[in-house]
Amino acid sequence: MAAETTAAAGAAAAAPAARPGAAGKPPKAGGKRTGPRPKHVPQRMCVACRGHDAKRGLHRLVRTPEGPVVADPTGKRNGRGAYLCDNPACWDKALAGGILARALKLETEIDDETVAALRQFASTLAPEKPAADGAADGTKE
Ligand SMILES: [Zn+2]
Repeated sequence: MAAETTAAAGAAAAAPAARPGAAGKPPKAGGKRTGPRPKHVPQRMCVACRGHDAKRGLHRLVRTPEGPVVADPTGKRNGRGAYLCDNPACWDKALAGGILARALKLETEIDDETVAALRQFASTLAPEKPAADGAADGTKE
């Protein structure tokens, strides 16, 4: 009747008795998280002047699957788009300098026909007022 219980063979349980030193250290508040969270605002930018003018508005141009680049007044067409402001100089610059083609990731330059069409569109943005001073209400005979 020998009942021997196997005792734990030297279980060195190192109890971590880390006592906080009593050095008057005020507990710091957790890290503040007041970083400026970047709002995801789709920034539209004129590819020519790199400005975004909300007042004047930007015009969307879309590279259509068929090839040509067209103005997209509705802004709903599918395809890679680029924006130009309504400054005719920007259109000129974008069309002449290949900026638009680059912005639309075109492999070739925009063909003349399309350029002409876009120029035509641009010309409607800032219609040249022909100085209509037809206020000739004087009796002219
Ligand atoms: Zn511009």
